[in-house]
Amino acid sequence: MPAFELYQPASVADAQKLLEQHGRDAWVMAGGLDSFDWLKDRIKKPKAVVDLSGIAELKGIRATSDGIEIGAMTTLTEVVKNPIVKEKYGLLAQGAELAASPQIRNQGTLGGNVSQDARCWYYRAGWPCYRAGGNICYADTPTGRNREHAILGADRCVAVNPSDSAPALIALDAKFVLRTPKGEKVIDAEDYFIGPEMDITHLNILRPGDLLTAIRIPSTWAGAQFYFEKVRDRNVWDFALLNVASAMKVSGDKIDSIRIAVNGAAARPLRLRAVENAVQGKSKSAETGEMAGKLAVEGAVPLQFNAYKIPLMRNLVKRAIGGVQEASWA
Ligand SMILES: Cc1cc2nc3c(=O)[nH]c(=O)nc-3n(C[C@H](O)[C@H](O)[C@H](O)COP(=O)(O)OP(=O)(O)OC[C@H]3O[C@@H](n4cnc5c(N)ncnc54)[C@H](O)[C@@H]3O)c2cc1C
Ligand code: SF4
Repeated sequence: MPAFELYQPASVADAQKLLEQHGRDAWVMAGGLDSFDWLKDRIKKPKAVVDLSGIAELKGIRATSDGIEIGAMTTLTEVVKNPIVKEKYGLLAQGAELAASPQIRNQGTLGGNVSQDARCWYYRAGWPCYRAGGNICYADTPTGRNREHAILGADRCVAVNPSDSAPALIALDAKFVLRTPKGEKVIDAEDYFIGPEMDITHLNILRPGDLLTAIRIPSTWAGAQFYFEKVRDRNVWDFALLNVASAMKVSGDKIDSIRIAVNGAAARPLRLRAVENAVQGKSKSAETGEMAGKLAVEGAVPLQFNAYKIPLMRNLVKRAIGGVQEASWA
């Protein structure tokens, strides 16, 4: 790896000072799983690495007056095993448990999982594409390898967001707590993620000097009916081709309220508001699921090798609504 200065602050305040001091030359390191790929491949060459692993205040899961707060440096394994998460917010436990492999979940953090970069082959191999600051997309060509890429929301770059926890957090109405040079900011999970139309070189709104410190989950959906499904080529250690997360409150067979999000379809995890509005008040049935699935993929545009994602997304949304499992996952 190219040499860098390693900083290991013990507090958020010290980490912020270091990030401010080094500006664009600094790299935030969480569990290191995405970070080390970039560094070892010599594609990203920061002058300073700020390792968050010694900051106790960023770790752990706390009950709050209205839900829970998860420190950004809490590992995916801790999230999956936490009794409150399992009992009340099982949707997040399901999404987090389907990420990667046990070893990666033991080291990878929730903050890192939602902040990880795109997995497009060309970009990861250091090709000078749009996302890397260039003016071409190598994936969106007649022969480009784009089987894993976007069917919605593309704009020059067709890469997708790879996180399995992100759609679950959106469906749970989570809030992301950021520390920026201007102070603390709390935003909706949905607004943390951005598409290429906003900034083609980033998948989230973090800018130099910013830290994600915690994720808050309100009690709104505690104990609701949850559905999480991930489709991938291998059953372990593989990114999603698509995933879907939904939280639903039902009386009798009527859907009172719902949140639903998919990832792997676009550069940002997509909250499907049109679907939410269309199914609210309807019966929780295969018929409603069918209608929702069709609505979800309206406007989808396939690339050369990913047309399969359109029926796949339609069916995942259909199942998430028509065939929701009881929240018995624990
Ligand atoms: C082989 C492999 C397979 C994987 N499969 C999956 C999968 O199937 N599903 C899935 O969801 N994930 C998968 N992952 C991702 C993995 O789950 C990790 O969560 C992810 O790589 C990043 O977590 P990390 O804690 O290691 O963060 P790092 O790699 O250290 O950081 C990731 C990025 O986030 C930034 N960052 C991290 N934390 C913060 C913070 N608190 N504030 C500001 N910026 C921050 C870093 O600067 C960096 O850019 C896989 C990873 C690997 C290597
Ligand atoms: S899809 Fe995006 S990341 Fe991949 S080559 Fe095209 S511009 Fe680069």
